Amino acid sequence: MTAKRSHFLEVATVFVFVMQLEVFETPITAIDPGRVEAHIGHTPLLRLRLDLSPGVQVFAKAEHLNPGGSVKDRAALSMILEGERSGKLKAGMTILDATSGNTGIAYAMIGASRGYTVKVCLPKNASPARKRILRSYGVEIVETDPMLSTDGAQLLAREIFGENPEKYFYPDQYNNEANWLAHYETTANEIWQQTEGRVTHFVTGLGTTGTFVGVTRRLRELNPRLKAIAVQPESPLHGLEGLKHLPSAITPGIFDESLVTETLEVATEDALLMTSKLARQEGLLVGPSSGANVFAAWRVAAALREPAVVVTVLCDGGERYLND
Ligand code: PMP
Repeated sequence: MTAKRSHFLEVATVFVFVMQLEVFETPITAIDPGRVEAHIGHTPLLRLRLDLSPGVQVFAKAEHLNPGGSVKDRAALSMILEGERSGKLKAGMTILDATSGNTGIAYAMIGASRGYTVKVCLPKNASPARKRILRSYGVEIVETDPMLSTDGAQLLAREIFGENPEKYFYPDQYNNEANWLAHYETTANEIWQQTEGRVTHFVTGLGTTGTFVGVTRRLRELNPRLKAIAVQPESPLHGLEGLKHLPSAITPGIFDESLVTETLEVATEDALLMTSKLARQEGLLVGPSSGANVFAAWRVAAALREPAVVVTVLCDGGERYLND
């Protein structure tokens, strides 16, 4: 047998072995196309008709059209699949985490579909509509001090997990690499394809920072000159549910400040006005953090004097905030 042929056989053997591993592992983490979680992602990229400088286009990634109604479907699915893959999440366990609501809803939807119960620690002042949605999915809610925001929810979730670690799968979304990886592997590549590689600016608000970190890291690999604008509420007390005022909050472990080109602070009133404008002038009923994102994207776009493609995110739907 020639050396070339024996090398070919060696490679073929390794390939067959890897394929067998794949076959062995597939049933644990497979996504059945007939289940709801198979339809997370691949959201439309919408062109916004904002009043802008010539040659500057603003697009919004319609994450509210995910089956669980928010951008957090992607991160929750990624963390659950990673939990199954690593063996930390097994049949019969409860998924436990701190959330401002949307990640909890995503855990609830995917958990129900994959056979897990879900428990979330949520600030008491989270929107009542969100709590109703969570309860409809059968989620157990532990309410935490509203003055401590999601930081208080994080501390309590850690405590509950520490008391009973064998009962819970605790993804800890603020410190879980699978959170930002979801956006690195899916959201960013979708944006790149949908803009045909023309994206120049990415603008989004910071919650766990998963969306900002994951999308920016990947888009920078594809376009090293990409400008990444991080959006924050103007003050610690704000009405932009889902967003964090980082200077006064626990910095998420997954945050990477070196990715930030510029930080824009948005006042709640400006975000709410933009949210209403999006409904009335664009036909997009979305939540306040989406309004903050679009307001910031509009400010970025208005200052540009050269052709540019600015992309932002519609994080969740507006129905979630009605009657609050
Ligand atoms: N907007 C809303 C409504 C959210 O629920 C979240 C998640 N906390 C965000 C924005 C921010 O997303 P991320 O956690 O990826 O930073």
